[in-house]
Amino acid sequence: MTTDNKMKTIYFDNNATTKVPEEVSEEMKPFFCELYGNPSSMHTFGGQIAARIRKSRQQVANLLGCDPAEIIFTSSGTESDNAAINGVLATAAHKRKIITSRVEHPAVLSVCKQLKDRGYTVVELEVDKQGQLDLGELEKQIDDDTALVSIMYANNETGVIFPVEQIAELVKSKGSIFHTDAVQAVGKIPLNLSKSNIDLLSLSGHKLHAPKGVGVLYVRKGTRLSPFMLGGHQEAGRRAGTENVPGIVGLGKACELAAKNTKEENERVRKLRDKLENAILKNCPDSMLNGDKDNRLPNTSNISFEYIEGESILLMLDKFGICASSGSACTSGSLEPSHVLRAMGVPFTAAHGSIRFSLSRYNTEKEVDYTIEKMPEIVNKLRKLSPFVTK
Ligand code: PLP
Repeated sequence: MTTDNKMKTIYFDNNATTKVPEEVSEEMKPFFCELYGNPSSMHTFGGQIAARIRKSRQQVANLLGCDPAEIIFTSSGTESDNAAINGVLATAAHKRKIITSRVEHPAVLSVCKQLKDRGYTVVELEVDKQGQLDLGELEKQIDDDTALVSIMYANNETGVIFPVEQIAELVKSKGSIFHTDAVQAVGKIPLNLSKSNIDLLSLSGHKLHAPKGVGVLYVRKGTRLSPFMLGGHQEAGRRAGTENVPGIVGLGKACELAAKNTKEENERVRKLRDKLENAILKNCPDSMLNGDKDNRLPNTSNISFEYIEGESILLMLDKFGICASSGSACTSGSLEPSHVLRAMGVPFTAAHGSIRFSLSRYNTEKEVDYTIEKMPEIVNKLRKLSPFVTK
């Protein structure tokens, strides 16, 4: 797709998924047609593949600041979240309570809903207008019956970062287990798990420039977790199933690149994001930022436009070759505003008109400038058509 002035697709939807750069895809290529052995095989051919998986495990561990033995390769962030929650609860059958937040990804919230249906007590902590948690409330809720606290590192819709290290310390002091869904944080925020009290952490390859279909569950040494896929002895018996070798190789390389470049690249991305955000807020009347401006991922901006629908903005952006996403989901003819924005108390009319721009290191200033030019045009056009605007 090209834009009206022949620009290529402008991709501002990096919290949905990211580009796999050539450095990563080149590293993966031999593992399709040449080095296709099974890493569990006894022969030398298979042994080469097992060795490459060991290298990837080390590359991931280097990025997270942990021991390679604490890394379990999975198929996705969703699998990691499901495995963490169900795997911990299966080892703590006498405890029947789980604490999470109202703004988690469905990969956590849906598991919690199923647990609730099975008789568990599920506490979904509220957030304030900035999308932040009340840690006093969390402290009050953790009791002897609490098997697990699962709180995300950074929110996928707003980019709001929770004080996860502080939460982990609190949970530990109360004798419970702490899992964090860090799918949006890894590669955007430096982590050092060797200095943290996080017990389990989920990440997803395709959010950090690795391919889709590969994820990681970090499990701190000594944390009890029931195996979540039964079968062969892969991943030290914790997750059976023949490994997605090219995916794991790609993830290893992506983690190596992230470990090297994150700091400077994120500063550049933050500047671009801020330029885009400030210009939109200035040039589009009745627009507002959603979420804690200061404690936020450097790449994410969630902006509400009163009296217009997010979907309409997206469609018009799409015509100009600009990819973003909206906080609403069109379900059976009615527009349901995002559960995250609703939890933050964003007014209904503004929640409907929310757009998420999420940048990456592959975005350029030219792309930002082009979007800045187009946004007021789009918003003005839609406002003229809006039945809610009487001016
Ligand atoms: N958790 C968060 C915060 C996410 O943003 C996502 C994906 O958008 C997931 C979990 C699910 O990850 P995956 O797409 O790898 O299943």
